[in-house]
Amino acid sequence: MKPLLDHQPEESVLARSRERIMYLMAYVIAIFITPFAINNFIQNRPILGIAILLIVGTFVANGVAIRLKKRPPVPFVALLLPMAVALIFSLVTQGLYGALWCYPAVLFCFFVLPHRVAIAASAAMLVLAIPMVYTFVNEGTAFRFAISLALNIVVISIVTGVVADLQRELLDQAATDPLTGALNRRQMESLLSEAVERRSRSAAPASVLLLDIDHFKSINDRFGHHTGDEVLRNLVTLIKKHIRRLDRVFRTGGEEFLILLTDTKGADATTHAERLRLLIAEASLTKECQVTVSIGVAECVPNQKVESWIKNADDALYFAKQEGRNRVVCEMPLAQEGLSDVPLEIVGTNRRTRER
Ligand code: GH3
Ligand code: MG
Ligand code: MG
Repeated sequence: MKPLLDHQPEESVLARSRERIMYLMAYVIAIFITPFAINNFIQNRPILGIAILLIVGTFVANGVAIRLKKRPPVPFVALLLPMAVALIFSLVTQGLYGALWCYPAVLFCFFVLPHRVAIAASAAMLVLAIPMVYTFVNEGTAFRFAISLALNIVVISIVTGVVADLQRELLDQAATDPLTGALNRRQMESLLSEAVERRSRSAAPASVLLLDIDHFKSINDRFGHHTGDEVLRNLVTLIKKHIRRLDRVFRTGGEEFLILLTDTKGADATTHAERLRLLIAEASLTKECQVTVSIGVAECVPNQKVESWIKNADDALYFAKQEGRNRVVCEMPLAQEGLSDVPLEIVGTNRRTRER
């Protein structure tokens, strides 16, 4: 299924929780692991002592940075190195006792690192730890260790996977309109702001189509709200089917939608809008009646504000309604045309006129 929010990378779903977990871990590790480092120095195992101190130090440095709302200085994945050194030394010198540290290490991997890294690191830990433990204990004990660690990895992997899925679902629900599945206004504001910024920085064009169903009130009045809802749902499904992967559709009002076309100039957006208008007019969004839409098109001009970009599309839509509905009107950017007045181009219903 196409992700609703491409600007929310999969990996970032748990990212916000990771810092919290890292912060708590820093506390726990500083309090409970430091005595083990001291003990290793006393027991004449300085390398293990240093590796453990390194782990404590890096966790504490990250914890303090998170507390001060600064960027953690040590990338979380870099913590794997001192952890691996400490684990290997524990396993080599203490066998099964050292192997017990594999369990919290697996927790660290799954709750702090990206899922794929966690799986790879845990699998490596399992493969390395089993033969090391086996040199210290009998087969039965080594077997039990292997099974319990493998089970631990599988269960934590499933739990973190489920948590990530639930969080993704919640994010999607908070971002979409429940009736149609179109993105909501909050998403629209942030994605349009991004498009405006890209337009100003890298000259990447972007256009919006403001689409409003014609005489929708009369569909409700004649056939009931249920039919109206059916039209709204089917309309969004149809639009989504005919836009590109990076384009987005938002529900801006009852029967009004905004479609963001990335990397698209006004002229191409107008062609696209016209194609959509025709598709909708010919589609059977409900068996009760044919539905038509009016569309206002506006391309983003450099340094334009989001509100003024939407207003241009809104003016064009208003004009399309005034001109008789079931048509596309494009508001051409002034800079492009070099004109003092805002020109409007009407493209709908087999007519190609230009109003100035
Ligand atoms: P125009 O061609 O000028 O756009 O006329 P219109 O009838 O489409 O526009 P108007 O603003 O008069 O009516 C919009 C209607 O949309 C009124 C409202 O009851 C209906 N509506 C808004 N939200 C929903 C919804 O979620 N479901 C249904 N079924 N109707 C809705
Ligand atoms: Mg309408
Ligand atoms: Mg309306």
